[in-house]
Amino acid sequence: MLSPSSDWLPQPPLEPLHLDWLTNAGIDVAVLRLDRIDPLISGNKWFKLIDHLRVAREAGAEGVISLGGAWSNHLHALAAAGKRFGFPTVGLLRGHPQDTPTVQDLQAFGMQLHWLGYGGYRARHEPGFWQPWQAQYPHLHPIPEGGGGLLGARGCGQLLTLVREQLSELDWNDHDGWWLACGTGTTLAGLVLAEAGRHPVYGVLAVPDDHGVAQQVEAILGECGLPDGGYALFDGSRGGFANVDPLLLEFIEGCEQASGIPLEPLYTGKALLTLKEQVEAGRFVRGTRLIFVHTGGLQGRRGAPFSQG
Ligand SMILES: *Cc1c(COP(=O)(O)O)cnc(C)c1O
Repeated sequence: MLSPSSDWLPQPPLEPLHLDWLTNAGIDVAVLRLDRIDPLISGNKWFKLIDHLRVAREAGAEGVISLGGAWSNHLHALAAAGKRFGFPTVGLLRGHPQDTPTVQDLQAFGMQLHWLGYGGYRARHEPGFWQPWQAQYPHLHPIPEGGGGLLGARGCGQLLTLVREQLSELDWNDHDGWWLACGTGTTLAGLVLAEAGRHPVYGVLAVPDDHGVAQQVEAILGECGLPDGGYALFDGSRGGFANVDPLLLEFIEGCEQASGIPLEPLYTGKALLTLKEQVEAGRFVRGTRLIFVHTGGLQGRRGAPFSQG
């Protein structure tokens, strides 16, 4: 059985971000460092897993089975949690066997891997997809790709409490909104639910909008009867998920040197660059205080092939 130790709620640090373009515009930003919750388990993917793991435990499962790609931050967090909390994990991977640093970690953490090919992976939303896997692993609980859905969102809603507990250390009596990268929008939806209209949540699309992020957010909010809780989406994809250009890479390097905070180009770098564009376009009045969620993902920086789009 999954043990209650997997209910772990980390304490991510909240740190002020000092960058010239923020100071010049009079905008205060604090970074919620989800990249620093643990030496191995990183990022928003852990928060998306918390409620899925609780449901798995309540169902009497011994472990968990899930899906992802050869650079997946989700599978990485899941495999690391399995190792840390002592439950078995199985990963169903997109494509054909590859030997990425992520895959090497999954194996080192003891995750059992199955490569589905591309066609096999595309079938993941079809009814009956899970049947043979559940027959093979009857004691494992399936978690959807990326730890999404309402359960994934609920776990992320806890970030609001973790921020509130630390605001006084920054001498802030409140914050005025959130800024974060979106892939599926699950993390953003969790914050919108937790805020219930008190503060807006700004999401930067790391994938072009034909992936239906807004629809997925609306679906989660709709399930809770909160059709529009106050959020906005910005396209920061630079034309494609893996698209990286010299301007983005230079920006990331400059921010790292000035602030000491490491970023990666797929999510967090794009999110901060888009914040800079919006700040410089005058989107926020002087004195605005934003929480920038560092969603992690640094494990994927190790030698990933980015397309220069
Ligand atoms: C998965 C991921 C995101 C996107 O999270 P969603 O909940 O899918 O929107 C953002 N940043 C990083 C580093 C991620 O790994």
